[in-house]
Amino acid sequence: MQNDPDTTLITPTAPVSARTHGGRAKCLQRLVRLDLPVPRTVALSFDAVHEIAEGNMPDLRAVVDQFDASALLCVRPSSEDPDWGGPGAVLNIGMNDRLFEELSGTLGEAPAAALYLRFVQSYAVHVARLDPDLFVLEPGDDVSRALKETLDTYEDEAEEQFPQDRAEQLSGVLQAMARAWEGTSARLLRQAKGAPADAGLGLVVQEMIPGIGKGECGSGVLQLADPITGLPQITGRYLSQSQGRDALGAGAEALYLEQDQRGPSLEDEAPEAFSELKIHAALMRKRLREEMQVEFVINGGRVHILDGMRVPRAPRAAVRMAVRLAEDGIITPQEAVMRIDPHAVNELLHRQVDPNAERDVLTTGVAASPGAASGRIVFTSAEAQASAARGEPCILVRRETSPGDIRGMHAAAAVLTEKGGMTSHAAVIGRGLGLPCIVGASSFRFQTKNKQLTAPDGRVFRTGDILTIDGSTGQVLAGEPAMLEAALDDAFLTLMGWADEARDIDIRANADTPADARTARNFNAQGIGLCRTEHMFFEPGRLTVMREMIFAQTSEGRAAVLARLLPMQRDDFAELFSIMEGQPVCIRLFDPPLHEFLPTTRTGQRELAEALDMPVSDVTRRVEAMEEYNPMLGLRGVRLGVTVPEIYDMQARAIFEATLSATHDGEPVVPEIMIPLVSARREVELVKARIDAVAAAVRAEQGRDFDYRLGVMVETPRACLRADEIAPQTAFLSFGTNDLTQMTYGLSRDDAGRFMSDYVQQEVFPEDPFHVLDAEGVGELLRIGVDRGRKANPGITLSICGEHGGNPESISFCRDAGFDYVSCSPFRVPVARLAAAQLAIGHKIGDGLDA
Ligand code: PEP
Ligand code: MG
Repeated sequence: MQNDPDTTLITPTAPVSARTHGGRAKCLQRLVRLDLPVPRTVALSFDAVHEIAEGNMPDLRAVVDQFDASALLCVRPSSEDPDWGGPGAVLNIGMNDRLFEELSGTLGEAPAAALYLRFVQSYAVHVARLDPDLFVLEPGDDVSRALKETLDTYEDEAEEQFPQDRAEQLSGVLQAMARAWEGTSARLLRQAKGAPADAGLGLVVQEMIPGIGKGECGSGVLQLADPITGLPQITGRYLSQSQGRDALGAGAEALYLEQDQRGPSLEDEAPEAFSELKIHAALMRKRLREEMQVEFVINGGRVHILDGMRVPRAPRAAVRMAVRLAEDGIITPQEAVMRIDPHAVNELLHRQVDPNAERDVLTTGVAASPGAASGRIVFTSAEAQASAARGEPCILVRRETSPGDIRGMHAAAAVLTEKGGMTSHAAVIGRGLGLPCIVGASSFRFQTKNKQLTAPDGRVFRTGDILTIDGSTGQVLAGEPAMLEAALDDAFLTLMGWADEARDIDIRANADTPADARTARNFNAQGIGLCRTEHMFFEPGRLTVMREMIFAQTSEGRAAVLARLLPMQRDDFAELFSIMEGQPVCIRLFDPPLHEFLPTTRTGQRELAEALDMPVSDVTRRVEAMEEYNPMLGLRGVRLGVTVPEIYDMQARAIFEATLSATHDGEPVVPEIMIPLVSARREVELVKARIDAVAAAVRAEQGRDFDYRLGVMVETPRACLRADEIAPQTAFLSFGTNDLTQMTYGLSRDDAGRFMSDYVQQEVFPEDPFHVLDAEGVGELLRIGVDRGRKANPGITLSICGEHGGNPESISFCRDAGFDYVSCSPFRVPVARLAAAQLAIGHKIGDGLDA
């Protein structure tokens, strides 16, 4: 049999690999190579198991003959990646009437009956496929009587005697496990965990070492690190006179492993076995280069290692474990970086609902900004601010948010909206603030006027009721489940330091406010890639001035109002420059439609009329006149710069004056100015000429020189196609993939949330394209823009500043396309740093393999 790779005795040299026999079989071989006391094991390959499912048994005699005639056997699954799971293990194969009699003599009747009963039960349910309800035992049943009844039930239902031959029993078990793997639900389950459709299953047949018998006997599970915290700590349980993983479900009866104030321990009861076990576990950690969960049996005081599995772990534990393994010299820092899923880093940066807490899920919307928060619900931004003033956390509930809700969002602990998708206002701002946010929760009834929210199950929530927003999963929960705090500890910082050493693409942050900029610096962003200046005009003192500017009838009138906005903007930019200490700051000129700044309610219009000393009817008429059918495609971005150029003039002046004052105090500042929503070369020419003129004027007035870089935001398909004529006029092109996605698909970023999940479910789109860059369609436009732009201006800087900049898959695209940097919300910077590092390390490994 040694030569048959399909049914192989696991020896140090047997031809066993994870790809042919599965992870468990390979791990057992490693343990055998380490000379650990592993019971005799035969591995069945994926091919063999597939044949078994088809009804073609391998030579089972040859398998059974590997074991002592009286040995009991167990069969466990061995999928290629242990995380893909598999059918449950079956223990005590070989138990029969004769062995029961024999063991009753040596072990006692009850332990022998327990061994037999366990096997008959799992055989009846999994192999003979009898109704599981027939085999449920009541707690406290006498085990010998239960065995007899179970055997009788088996005979009645299966209309045969319980099989007594070990090979026949084994054959039934193997076939049942092989077929279970091929079933549809098992297939869907493992595919959901990332397994390919044709993933194979191996099986291992192992001699059972009884955890039941004379002397110290029992079974348990041991880990050298805590699976929740990742800190070095021996965790697990041991149960005398038990088998399998019984110790884990045994509650108070089970022993702790190490001495423990909470109760008796294995270290107290069997110190020698405990220290032997610790030595084995440490060796496994070192040589398998991983925190391992050790499944063991003690028989007559002697330790046996049945299995080793990667310790299942929460994300925060994963980081600590990887860093400790690297610090102990067991793996390299680069391997530690590669072991952390960048998506999971989000969980470390924000509070999370405790995975063990009970969840009363009301509905699921779009998980737009990660983290979780509980609070009393409020329906207006004013209420949110009042709530914050009282020191009471609140959840801001809106149909959708608009720039006027910024202060309310700042005040809230989380945001919930009916409308919107990944790039709608609430989502973008939520991510920027690190505020948990769910959008597109349209299965709720939002009656915001009546200040009432009705859940799909009919429960009604009013102002003051408590909800929890889990922005990581999109779940809206009733009440206040337990939370886990963010985990930005030393291990995380160490890991990120290693990631930065490996990375070969820069990461900047999208930051609009001083608070954003500070967050960006805390997360080690390499500058600001997008400062959306329009958000600066929604401060209460400025909004009125802005409205006056919009209402000004003449160019002079407008200039006078802009002169009042100038010092405010100058201070904004000076503060950003000072926080960023010489790092690049890319300021986007004013983008949104002007009418967003106008009051929509009657009261608001009356107040504005008072402030401007105008009749309300005039205000209303002007507001109506400025309304657009499709404002996202209307008078915004550079179109405003061309038609109302004084706004951009004022902003350019504010930037240059702030540049000079910041350069006075510290590092020379080279501001980057970005023109939004460009679609034609002439737009750039017009704006560039005016900005150059403002720069010349400021230089002349102050008698000092400064540099600046002018760039174009490429966010219309036409700008991609015409990049060859746009690029020569600019120092950089930054791709705004939010609008570019919207315009490429003709898909409203503010409305797509309503039907996006249907589209993804029905596989129209593989993913929400506002979340993961559509590499085929939008990506094609990006590639065209990059190629044409670079050909026309080889020294040009290329980047992306849409929300995709923080998405690991999209970063991979940007790196391949040769971008200089990606820019994303400050809270996504660590995710981007780690993802970029993994791409660079993976690339090097790939090069090595090719060589
Ligand atoms: C974009 O369109 O990709 C972008 C970054 O700009 P905004 O989201 O402000 O439209
Ligand atoms: Mg845009």
